[in-house]
Amino acid sequence: MEVGSMPYAWPEDTDFALWELDVLDRDCPFCGRMMYVCDHRYRRVHTLDGPVQLVCKLNHCPDPRCPGHAKTKSPELEVTIALPKWAIGWDVFCWIGHRRFSRHWSITQIRGELFDSFGIKVSDDSLTRYARHYQVMLAARQQDPEALRRQYDSVGEIILSIDGLQPEKGHETLYVVRELTQKRVWFAEPLISATADEVRRLIRKAKAWAESLGKPVALWLSDRQDAFVTGIAAEFPDVPHRYCDNHFLRDVAKPVLEADSHAKVAMRKKVRGLRTIEQAVLKRQRVVDAKPHEADAAVTLTSMDPPAAVPDADSGDGVVLDYCAAVRGILNNDQGGPLHPPGLQMAEALSEVRDSIQRNVDAQKGGSQNSNSADWPAASTVDSKPFETNKKRSASTSRTSRKSPRPSNPESGPAPSGERRLKD
Ligand SMILES: [Zn+2]
Repeated sequence: MEVGSMPYAWPEDTDFALWELDVLDRDCPFCGRMMYVCDHRYRRVHTLDGPVQLVCKLNHCPDPRCPGHAKTKSPELEVTIALPKWAIGWDVFCWIGHRRFSRHWSITQIRGELFDSFGIKVSDDSLTRYARHYQVMLAARQQDPEALRRQYDSVGEIILSIDGLQPEKGHETLYVVRELTQKRVWFAEPLISATADEVRRLIRKAKAWAESLGKPVALWLSDRQDAFVTGIAAEFPDVPHRYCDNHFLRDVAKPVLEADSHAKVAMRKKVRGLRTIEQAVLKRQRVVDAKPHEADAAVTLTSMDPPAAVPDADSGDGVVLDYCAAVRGILNNDQGGPLHPPGLQMAEALSEVRDSIQRNVDAQKGGSQNSNSADWPAASTVDSKPFETNKKRSASTSRTSRKSPRPSNPESGPAPSGERRLKD
């Protein structure tokens, strides 16, 4: 059995961080057109920082006659987070390898410590496979040149990445050189202290591999630490070297979303009382409707169940209800990621509503005041949880919030466990 290929059973209440991955090079490899997102693949992996759900946006060529239409392209960086079929990220993988081979821990010990310190549950079988994989990677037994050449036969260009993985401060760092088009680890070396010379040696080694395959290197990706920048510039002077925006996003995402979340809470605290306003409108409507019959004046409206008398959309009451619905939608919207923080969208939408109301008030100035307005409760003095109802959680895949789509909403959420394979 392959490493980690057994479906992993995630507890129902797992709180996944969502990481979206885009295809970086979106030109169709066959015709050069801009490719479209055609599907998403969801994967869940353990990291030392907690469980992560990867949302991999798959691209294909929009032209049905192009060979690039039937072939989907996965985000290049997926492999820098976890290899295919892994249930753990690279950081956990390195942690396991380090414990096993530098500290000579037993598998049982590793399993216990992974769970105690990180809440990560991995079976002994899987741990054994990960450890073996780590060993093989270091021994670089996959350097069989013939096998490698076969795998790269049909590949036009190569994309390389280098990464220094250090699960814990003070320990050796595992330097990994990966080739992203074929999702392969080319080689890995643990270095206690990585001088610029050592790093350059690894980059030179990657160059030798690429040359032996006879394939041009189109791009290097890294977190652009100094040794990488100088080493790559020296060995690959004409090859672009991009900042791996995934690193960048990961670093900024957390503080941005935390601040944004605080802002949302503050706004929700301030904008309250929707339900009370709606109830007042509906109650008044009932009274109006009931008047002709007068007899049964039992018009105490206690529930928000679909009201018998929905106010005419053009009436003043209808407008008020529309505003309430709009504001509720705004307050419940939690879509967006670190690049489009949901709180920022909320603030913008709320000020649009305020401006709109202000325009109405201005237009009404000088006109007759609504005689009933005094009956209306003040908007901010009311019950403490007006927004719990109607909480729509459309599990859009573009969300990048810390909250995961709950399993209680399975049909709109991503695949419940493990990796959803592409339907080809
Ligand atoms: Zn094409």
